[in-house]
Amino acid sequence: MRIAIASGKGGAGKTTVTSSLVSVWKSSCIAVDTDVEAPNLHLFLPPVIRKRQQIDLEVPQLNPEACTRCGACRNICSYKAIAQFASRITIFPDMCHGCGGCFLVCPAQALQRGKRELGVLEEGTVLDGRARFLMGRTRIGEAMTPPLLRAVHQRVREMLEELPGDVLFDAPPGVSCPTMTVAEAADLVLLVAEPTPFGFYDFRLAHQAFQPLGVPLAVIMNRSAMPGNAEGDENVRAYCRENMLPILAELPFSREVAEQYAQGGLIAEMSPLWRQHFEQLRDAILSFSGEKLHV
Ligand code: SF4
Ligand code: SF4
Repeated sequence: MRIAIASGKGGAGKTTVTSSLVSVWKSSCIAVDTDVEAPNLHLFLPPVIRKRQQIDLEVPQLNPEACTRCGACRNICSYKAIAQFASRITIFPDMCHGCGGCFLVCPAQALQRGKRELGVLEEGTVLDGRARFLMGRTRIGEAMTPPLLRAVHQRVREMLEELPGDVLFDAPPGVSCPTMTVAEAADLVLLVAEPTPFGFYDFRLAHQAFQPLGVPLAVIMNRSAMPGNAEGDENVRAYCRENMLPILAELPFSREVAEQYAQGGLIAEMSPLWRQHFEQLRDAILSFSGEKLHV
């Protein structure tokens, strides 16, 4: 089973929930950080990295001597990565999406296959080998994340073939393309909702974005019972009731949690009570999914 832990905004508690769920997950699981622009799951689940793999995108390189300046490559490139100035062809590799169209239309074989580094995949184990770990990290300055995310998903498929298990994806925040790519690949999306006005607004936005995917959705309310915020909690509950969204857990607001988070500690390991919160959440997920998992 593949579970995406997502949220409408950064800071709602996605990584906190993912890392602690991994720590109480009893069957074989892979913790995957898909927030490739700003991965941080490794701060809470320090991995022993066993493998690093550079991920590249195939981009064209011009052989000016063979080029007839016909302009076919420029015309087919939807991303404006090829320009023609005074009959001279110029390629902007950073704008290339790797679609391969220019190679196909060039009648003079004047384009050679070059590479642009997108980032790296890092793979290993966490929690003394109890869980496997995978993260993608974009190269500094790289703006395009979907190809790297596709490489993450491909590697997850291979890891599952090597050893079956469950997958807990720490999704990128918000509802951008990378987040939707992760949600589409999941069997279940857990939306972490923060019951502040800002958090509630973004939670509704995320729900509206994920709903059309048809993937089962459930909610975890984080920082509930904040002093003076009963109305915020009730807003989230009422919205979930109206939209038939099950709330699988309400994790109470606690200053100790914030302190543990700031030190990169696992919330589930803070106290027996917090471990119980996450064990109950795990059981609620399994019960909601209705799938037979080995816990
Ligand atoms: S591979 Fe596609 S995106 Fe890249 S330069 Fe060629 S046509 Fe443009
Ligand atoms: S399609 Fe080939 S020959 Fe034509 S301008 Fe582009 S690189 Fe040159």
